[in-house]
Amino acid sequence: MTPATRVAYIAGAGRSGSTLLAMLIGALPGCVSIGELRHMWRRGIQLNQRCGCGEPFWDCPFWSEVGDRAFDGWDNAPHERMLDLQRRVDRFRQLPRLATMPVAPGVRRTVDEYAVNTGRVYRAVQEVAQASTVVDSSKSPTFAVILQRVPGIDPVVLHLIRDSRAVAYSWSRQRPMPEVVDGGAYMATYGPTRAAIDWARNNVALEAAHIAGVASTRLRYEALVRAAPQELARLRSTLGLTPEQAAVLTAPVVDVGVQHTVAGNPSRFSGHQVRLRPDEEWKSAMIVRDRRIVEGLTWPLLAAYGYRLRS
Ligand SMILES: [Zn+2]
Repeated sequence: MTPATRVAYIAGAGRSGSTLLAMLIGALPGCVSIGELRHMWRRGIQLNQRCGCGEPFWDCPFWSEVGDRAFDGWDNAPHERMLDLQRRVDRFRQLPRLATMPVAPGVRRTVDEYAVNTGRVYRAVQEVAQASTVVDSSKSPTFAVILQRVPGIDPVVLHLIRDSRAVAYSWSRQRPMPEVVDGGAYMATYGPTRAAIDWARNNVALEAAHIAGVASTRLRYEALVRAAPQELARLRSTLGLTPEQAAVLTAPVVDVGVQHTVAGNPSRFSGHQVRLRPDEEWKSAMIVRDRRIVEGLTWPLLAAYGYRLRS
């Protein structure tokens, strides 16, 4: 019997550093990082945005082979059906219905169809990359719950946490999206209230999912950029790696190579090397009013995670 595909799923609020974590794990032997898989159906198959290798999705040799193995070519993939299913079940508001057992039969059929097709992609990725662990940085708490229903995989959830003030500061900055082939596109920006609510609801949802039985391993972005080799060594058994496989990275500059990622932060296009350094610009550059708003909306969880409210 073929062993189950280990899927390391990175969950958390947007702008928490999931792309960086995925790139680091993807650089370890035996691991392959594919970016945010739940966006592949639209941004990859439908919109033909660029893969992390620089090629448009349909021209990328890696994803072409994955499509051939999973669906006998992307032309035959049920991407419109998947987008329809995604709209129905992979939504934040569906989370309580999905995390409560037993799942109602109507919802179960929909989510299981969505999960089966997702599983075909994970297994094809594992075969093409000849990796033991597939890294998906889709972030969504709802997808973390759906993942538990994907057949033929062994899911592990990594809950990535970052200071809400740093996250809100990141949301305030306008950044181009190099994956859009025609250019001229920018990532969404959020004001401090929306960024704080998004941070809180995603982290609370992951804590609730954990209590409901979706086991997750917490790690903090700030610890990752300060001590990546030690943090990855801590995840070694979760990722299913040998001590040798988990110990190849040397900080502060990590060679992550070319990675075939379907969606994620623009940093995935910035070359084969990643420089790890604490990003604390928010401490001096964030407007005091914005900082107060974010602290006011997120302080209980921020304090519970061990962040200092006054620096
Ligand atoms: Zn590619």
